[in-house]
Amino acid sequence: MAAIRFVEHQITARVPELGNATNVIDAGLTIRVDPLTGHTARILHQGQLAPSARTDLTDLTTPPPFCPFCADKLEVATGVIAPSITDEGRIRRGASAVVPNVLAYSEFSSVGLYDTTRHFVGLRDLTPQLIGDLFVGLVAYARGVGGLRPMWHSINANYLPPAGSSVVHPHAQTAHDDIGTTAQRNLVAASERWPGNFWHELVEQEAGGPRWLGTRGRVHVLTPWAPIGFHEVWLLIPELHDILELTDDDCADLGAVLSGVLMGYDALDLASFNWALYGGGPSPSSDFGLLLRIVSRANPEPVYRSDVTYFERLHAEAMIDMGPEEVAKKLAPHLAAVLG
Ligand SMILES: [Zn+2]
Repeated sequence: MAAIRFVEHQITARVPELGNATNVIDAGLTIRVDPLTGHTARILHQGQLAPSARTDLTDLTTPPPFCPFCADKLEVATGVIAPSITDEGRIRRGASAVVPNVLAYSEFSSVGLYDTTRHFVGLRDLTPQLIGDLFVGLVAYARGVGGLRPMWHSINANYLPPAGSSVVHPHAQTAHDDIGTTAQRNLVAASERWPGNFWHELVEQEAGGPRWLGTRGRVHVLTPWAPIGFHEVWLLIPELHDILELTDDDCADLGAVLSGVLMGYDALDLASFNWALYGGGPSPSSDFGLLLRIVSRANPEPVYRSDVTYFERLHAEAMIDMGPEEVAKKLAPHLAAVLG
């Protein structure tokens, strides 16, 4: 079987030196090609896009007079899930709760709160238990929807406004319909086109290398060769093909690893993130491996620089300033305790 080929292009640009514009210098740029999808990522060598200081979140995260997701309002401000999906009404596991979404961005969608007892939970307080319990609840919801008919499922999260969240109370969201999303369909189609099983081969080839972080249970953890976002980490379960197959143990492992990644983000002075867990569709192909990818987002400063430029928004191309090998190195100490 042919090995996965990691192709990159080294480019040298001639640019005026920052702060000394009459001096023209060589500046390096790496463009990497994703071996599965062919998408390309630009890794700047100058590294000037990182936050310069920790963001003070006090004003943003002070509990408002009314929050539908705080425990004292949840029962009156949120609906109950249809009995055809669950007979639990609101799905509660530990401190978490799953309720129906009021925004119809999919035929079925839910909102899951990591913790209803606290309006805000900082990165360091999103513990393995909190995240693991939430996954168990969200997977229970997904299974309920999956019982109606086969569908595309995904579980996703925006954290704080720079990540697209309109509600500060930390939450995740699920989406379930017959269409799926562009990224889901592309990942599954590319996995099916691959001559062998891309995801098993990826684990085999990357294990122990500069982007490898380790394994917990069935969850393999690594940074991707050609990221689509800043500080991107992959949590991969190659033997699973859909969200409905996740066991409680898998959920606990995903929670432990994600919690470690968030500790690492916190240490890098990052404050905002998105993650997505992609299900493999109505008839999941065994060529597809269950993938959760997490990326950091811009920090919530009063006037912040968006991390999404025309490159990401209109060219579908990441433009980042920290290579995946360095991300792996920086996050490794925070994952050492949870990964073998
Ligand atoms: Zn709240």
